[in-house]
Amino acid sequence: MLEKSISKKIWNIVGQENVVADKETRICYSYDATNLKYLPDLVVYPTTREQISEILKLANEDRFPVIPRGAGTGFTGGTLPVEGGVLLVLTKLNKILQIDPENLLAVVEPGVVTFDLQKEVEKIGLFYPPDPASLKTSTLGGNVAECAGGPRAVKYGVTKDYVLGLEVVLPTGEIISTGVQTVKSVVGYDLTKLLVGSEGTLGIITKIILRLLPLPKDKRTLLAIFPTIETAATTVSRIIGSRIIPTTLEFMDNATIRCVEDYLHLGLPVEAGALLIIEVDGVPEAISQDIREIQKICLDHQALEAKVAKDAQEAEELWKARRSVSPAVVKLNPTKINEDITVPRSKVAEILRRVEAIAQKYNLIIVNFGHAGDGNIHVNVMIDRRRPGEEERAHAAVKEIFAATLELGGTLSGEHGIGITKAPYISMELGDMGLEVMKRIKKAFDPNNILNPGKIFPDKTKAKAY
Ligand SMILES: Cc1cc2nc3c(=O)[nH]c(=O)nc-3n(C[C@H](O)[C@H](O)[C@H](O)COP(=O)(O)OP(=O)(O)OC[C@H]3O[C@@H](n4cnc5c(N)ncnc54)[C@H](O)[C@@H]3O)c2cc1C
Repeated sequence: MLEKSISKKIWNIVGQENVVADKETRICYSYDATNLKYLPDLVVYPTTREQISEILKLANEDRFPVIPRGAGTGFTGGTLPVEGGVLLVLTKLNKILQIDPENLLAVVEPGVVTFDLQKEVEKIGLFYPPDPASLKTSTLGGNVAECAGGPRAVKYGVTKDYVLGLEVVLPTGEIISTGVQTVKSVVGYDLTKLLVGSEGTLGIITKIILRLLPLPKDKRTLLAIFPTIETAATTVSRIIGSRIIPTTLEFMDNATIRCVEDYLHLGLPVEAGALLIIEVDGVPEAISQDIREIQKICLDHQALEAKVAKDAQEAEELWKARRSVSPAVVKLNPTKINEDITVPRSKVAEILRRVEAIAQKYNLIIVNFGHAGDGNIHVNVMIDRRRPGEEERAHAAVKEIFAATLELGGTLSGEHGIGITKAPYISMELGDMGLEVMKRIKKAFDPNNILNPGKIFPDKTKAKAY
């Protein structure tokens, strides 16, 4: 618990109206999109980078943890105050500072909601591609801290591919700018790349320079229905192998389709083994040709149907279905252990086979959906903790799924990060020395371990994995 005198000093820095200490509010900020809860001692809404700097300097003097938070949609507990302390909610830093069409860039504060930037730049024919399914809520600061991806990553890449530069308050309170406003630069270590995806452990992002693209002229969406997961997964490999790069290539298995249909009543094919939602964008002539070719590949690989959405509304309904998957699947069981393994694209069918075998071995419900086009599968182990032994079986299953993923040349997390939920497994991928180097980097930035302690590194992890 923070001493009263510290709370008072923080009031003096940000103003009393930007500090909340009552238990009700603290409970509201004690969770994210995991099922875990840790109560912060104080919730603070800074409005300038200088305030953040002052708070971090104070934290180093008085040794209390500081945890940055955007919208709290993270899936790995990255914003949970596992060791208590001050939760810095960055949503009041929410201005789009500049949109520069000549240099194709935008400068934003971290609290800007992802979708709000996308709508603003689209008004003038520009495009910010990263599109996490949470985009109507998540903040750009949170996206940068997690290096968020989304369906469009197949063609356009992820957040790190769009961050040109950052302004960051270091854990010690100093403020630095990294990166450039130019397309190229090779001056010194690439601190921007290091900070993107650092999960709020190396600095607090207060300004972001983002690269923009011209808005594609048109897009078409196709729904392909398959009798089995296997046929859908094979089709994914064939599409990529045919040298067409779709904008998105999303997949849902049968259990996911049923849950979403139950949730939204859109008329989805509940008997199908799997479905693919495929989008292509670009100039109209090229799109028509690509979508016809993709349609043919689907039908040649046993698709029961491959239907192009007739208009933007029908396409939007398909995307609504995809974006609703996370809330829809919880009807299966109250707790969702949500992993986002990624394998080489050619191994999607193989990993799904292995996950199925692991589900049977441990007698668990596992539903799969996600970004098949870049090999990023969301594997969701749905459990009810009240059933004796189920949680333990789930953890054993997750460990086996990770081992299988690494064996196939994959990675434990494509976009959700490590946070606290994956920390117990991180050395399976990095090895002891890889992890040790990361600990040294953390120490160089944050000698007193003030910023977001208890994250990423297993020895500091207080939480169990879910
Ligand atoms: C329904 C749903 C769908 C999702 N779909 C996707 C998806 O498709 N792709 C994907 O990648 N993720 C997805 N996510 C996960 C999540 O939305 C992303 O990780 C997102 O980037 C988190 O943004 P946020 O603003 O909510 O950050 P928070 O959850 O508040 O924070 C996430 C991490 O970033 C740190 N942080 C936040 N702001 C800053 C800052 N300014 N400076 C430094 N550190 C900071 C926090 O300390 C924490 O470690 C989904 C989540 C939900 C609930």
